[in-house]
Amino acid sequence: MRAVVIGAGIVGLTTSLALRQAGFEVVVYEQAPAIRAAGASLGLWANALAVLDDLSVGEELRCIGVPTEMYFHDPAGRLLDSPGFGVEDHQYLLAHRAKLNELLADAVGRDRIRLATGFRAYDEHEDHVTVHLSDGSRADADVLVGADGAYSAVRAQLVPGTPAEEHAGHHAWRAVIPATGIAVPENRLILGTNGCRGGYVRTHDGRTYWLVNQFKSPPPTGTLKQQALARVGYLEEERDGILAQLVAATPEDLILHNQVMLVPPLPHWVSARVVLAGDAAHAMSPHITAGATLGIEDAALLGRLLASTDDVPAALAAYQAAQLPRYEQVARLSAAVEEASTPQEFAQNYVAFTHWMLTERPQYPGA
Ligand SMILES: Cc1cc2nc3c(=O)[nH]c(=O)nc-3n(C[C@H](O)[C@H](O)[C@H](O)COP(=O)(O)OP(=O)(O)OC[C@H]3O[C@@H](n4cnc5c(N)ncnc54)[C@H](O)[C@@H]3O)c2cc1C
Repeated sequence: MRAVVIGAGIVGLTTSLALRQAGFEVVVYEQAPAIRAAGASLGLWANALAVLDDLSVGEELRCIGVPTEMYFHDPAGRLLDSPGFGVEDHQYLLAHRAKLNELLADAVGRDRIRLATGFRAYDEHEDHVTVHLSDGSRADADVLVGADGAYSAVRAQLVPGTPAEEHAGHHAWRAVIPATGIAVPENRLILGTNGCRGGYVRTHDGRTYWLVNQFKSPPPTGTLKQQALARVGYLEEERDGILAQLVAATPEDLILHNQVMLVPPLPHWVSARVVLAGDAAHAMSPHITAGATLGIEDAALLGRLLASTDDVPAALAAYQAAQLPRYEQVARLSAAVEEASTPQEFAQNYVAFTHWMLTERPQYPGA
């Protein structure tokens, strides 16, 4: 059996590994000229780590990550407690995004990844799918996986009329910076006023990842550093606190800014031989820091279902039947966090989401 995977991001590469484990011949097409990752660091939760362990890359992954805990504080530095949940609901691995994609690409096999080759369109037939590529070539496969991110061209053909939408007024600024001489005695995530969240976390290699986010932001003006600093005032009561110092010490060209984009809820994720995974199916607000983690679950479920049968349409239908209701629940829990009226409620609803995600995992056939 042959699979074509579009997109060599975290989800496309993990799906490729899972399909290889399922016995598929896999070719990945990536439009960029190199394996790369937008962003700096990435929090991966235990459900994603279990999948990556099962795909035999967990050990290497832990060498490019650091175990970390997600607890929120208020701008005065007080812990926002979330009673009723265990420490395991707060624990994640902070991993280096670009190194993660590199290690996944090595595990898939570089010879199976065609760079600088974009997806254009597909023709679906009863017993195969033909994929048309930007270099004019075609590839036939038993299954086509669209893991091509929020702006997915595969989705545009499979579910027309569902372009990515702006999460109005939701902006994120972040950077990973080398040691600056600023003492960072501990990790700190802060829920502030005016819809701002942010903080700083030490990485596995002695650097610091800082982030600043705002819901319902006025249109940002000025340099990226000025934009981020303008919001730090809502996160730290102390003048020139650690976050302010870290942002101020960051060179402008290291700061990454995103207007957050969402994929609207889709009526379907599959046809008989075409399937969406990761952000292509469900790009969501990063305030729950779980888009990649959940996309890694998509990959594992697809791999397991396709390993358990030769009937590709039946496996894809089973994937959709599992994932559509699961993502309705993700949307409900994520909205409860976003709509929280106080920082305390945000912290409580956040851990309610992670607890659900970690305890109500997909049922993997053969697991
Ligand atoms: C600020 C921010 C913080 C976040 N933090 C976290 C976090 O801590 N934890 C977490 O789990 N998630 C987090 N997320 C979400 C996470 O980044 C995404 O869910 C994840 O990166 C999606 O991976 P993907 O492989 O589906 O898509 P992408 O990473 O977008 O990869 C898609 C790939 O497809 C390629 N492609 C696109 N179009 C084509 C085409 N036509 N032909 C061929 N290739 C194509 C692209 O070049 C790209 O390489 C965060 C997101 C944001 C914005």
